Amino acid sequence: MQIQPKASHFIDGEYVEDTTGEAIEVIYPFTGEVVAKVHAATPAIIDRALTAAARAQKEWASWTGTERGRVLRRAADIMRERNHDLSVLETYDTGKPYQETSVADATSGADALEYFGGLAGSLTGEHIPLAGGDFVYTRREPLGVCLGIGAWNYPTQIASWKGAPALACGNAMVFKPSETTPLCALKVAEILHEAGAPAGTYNVVQGMGAVGAALINDPRVAKVSLTGSVPTGQKVYAAAAAGVRHVTMELGGKSPIVIFDDADLENAVSGAILGNFYSTGQVCSNGTRVFVQKGIKDAFLARMTERLKGVVMGDPQDPAVNFGPMVSANQRDIVMGFVKKGVAEGARLVTGGHAIDGPGFFIEPTVFADVTDDMTIATDEIFGPVLSVLDFDTEEEALARANDTPFGLAASVFTKDLTRAHRMAAGFEAGTCYINTHNLAPVEAPFGGSKLSGVGRENSKLAIEHYSEMKGVYVAMTDVEAPF
Ligand code: NAD
Repeated sequence: MQIQPKASHFIDGEYVEDTTGEAIEVIYPFTGEVVAKVHAATPAIIDRALTAAARAQKEWASWTGTERGRVLRRAADIMRERNHDLSVLETYDTGKPYQETSVADATSGADALEYFGGLAGSLTGEHIPLAGGDFVYTRREPLGVCLGIGAWNYPTQIASWKGAPALACGNAMVFKPSETTPLCALKVAEILHEAGAPAGTYNVVQGMGAVGAALINDPRVAKVSLTGSVPTGQKVYAAAAAGVRHVTMELGGKSPIVIFDDADLENAVSGAILGNFYSTGQVCSNGTRVFVQKGIKDAFLARMTERLKGVVMGDPQDPAVNFGPMVSANQRDIVMGFVKKGVAEGARLVTGGHAIDGPGFFIEPTVFADVTDDMTIATDEIFGPVLSVLDFDTEEEALARANDTPFGLAASVFTKDLTRAHRMAAGFEAGTCYINTHNLAPVEAPFGGSKLSGVGRENSKLAIEHYSEMKGVYVAMTDVEAPF
């Protein structure tokens, strides 16, 4: 399989190269070897992408929603047909196990293309009757050229989750992937154009933060949708504000999982595994603060330790492997810094806690117990396989402590008490909540954060609101009355 892309960028329906841009090496996190190389976009490339997108958007928006939807649904079919190759590529790009990527990445991208493809034909305005037979009708219109900026943990999914609703509404997109995982978004662009999107409708340009910043500042950009960390979100939001551009911000988190004594232990442990160790912990909505009621704590820790014996590390391309390396040496070192802080600040290391020698960037799945709210591992986003168990006594206490964070991405509760489950869900200050599970993100449901974790929602019908705007048209049916 070809890992090196045909060229760095995908603009106006074709691969485009400009080797004068800074080189970006793609490193396979299992071997530490360079498996591909691309170049950051130069100002000429950025201009070319925006020019193509601005031109293509006019044509694309003139198609009916049904016609646009047909292209998106065709793209979904192609993506599913190529799931194996796309999953292998996603694994090279990120180091996530093929066991995961083959069911969670291109498949999730295809779901988004299919779902928003299905909605495209039914995007309409409304009719508002007024006195004297006058009326207003509203037209749902695209915003124009939308800029997508991606994080490195879900490169195919992020490129699709932003592209599908944007294109369904008649926008064009310029997408800048993370410089750490530049490969997969190119495939999304390729597939959309193969499915019949006019040249220039979906473009990909590579680069570091500076390329993203240059794109945001261009007046041709109408909207910015970022998936990234809070500090980057603050910069991007401020830059977008200067141009009064629309934004969607999918940012970081420090989400709670609250497990009551009456919870189904096996499900609670499974939820905490999904919420801490899936994608080696590199998931924004992870429930890294696991509040466990005192009566179930020992049983929870014992069962978690037991279940972690099922971890299989190795080459993530091997379908038997279920736990991959960190995306980069840098991310491994950041996470190990947090682990050392956890120990230094007095948390009890139950299992794991070490980086593993070798070319791959592995860290053992790590569980801390006796963690208190003020410890760094309980306050900061770690973005690695580090689970912290915090004890609690009462529901009231658990909810207050779960909410005592500037983040608000996700939250979950495990209990068999129905009324308590809904009370907790209502009380959580988080955009995406779960009862008796964690970290599922079906395209039909809204996904996004409150507080510092973000602005706007991806997926579900709500995403349409973030990629279109309503124009009101007043229609007078009687003569105009003027004072003179
Ligand atoms: P990051 O913030 O370092 O980078 C995100 C993207 O922003 C990259 O493409 C980067 O090049 C770009 N960027 C950086 N500075 C910029 C600037 N000044 N202007 C424009 N673009 C700029 O994030 P990351 O390390 O790639 O990803 C990890 C973070 O993303 C974590 O905090 C995680 O929680 C978050 N995340 C959130 C979600 C979500 O849906 N809420 C999903 C995945 C990841």
